[in-house]
Amino acid sequence: MDYDRGRVYQCTKCCFAGEKRAAIKHYACKYFGVDEHMFSCELCNFSTDNKQLMKRHPSFYAPHSKARLFATEQGIYRGSDEAYLKVNPNPQQVDPEQHLSKWKQEASVLFWITKRKPKPSSAAGSAQQLISSINLPVLQSALTSYFETNPVYNPSPLNLPSVPSTTE
Ligand SMILES: [Zn+2]
Ligand SMILES: [Zn+2]
Repeated sequence: MDYDRGRVYQCTKCCFAGEKRAAIKHYACKYFGVDEHMFSCELCNFSTDNKQLMKRHPSFYAPHSKARLFATEQGIYRGSDEAYLKVNPNPQQVDPEQHLSKWKQEASVLFWITKRKPKPSSAAGSAQQLISSINLPVLQSALTSYFETNPVYNPSPLNLPSVPSTTE
């Protein structure tokens, strides 16, 4: 699968943004139900599309061990954790076209630049200067939406130059 390295994909349901692989993982983990994942556990309802994670979940997912203890006490434990593994023959897939929105190349580049800034306070300041010196509306909206998730307490923070609306 082509993961389109460097390009930013944003979740259509929240402000999560990151590389395609991360965005797909985010969407599947957050919005797919137990029965929509490839693997699920009938004991604790843990679900994932990752087989290794599925195998390991009894060791880090507390509800599983609690449920195992409870089932054992009740005398209904099936004898092994594997006995609860359910495989979905038709798992729901994340469709990047439908569930994610792909940022423009320029906006993606700026996203990673702003992500890499070491100090959040100075990053906000320099990014504001960056925003007011850029004329591409797509970059402004990308940066603005990014910084809306990290509020800057300033009555008129951006002071964007007015840009004629363009159609793509
Ligand atoms: Zn989301
Ligand atoms: Zn489980």
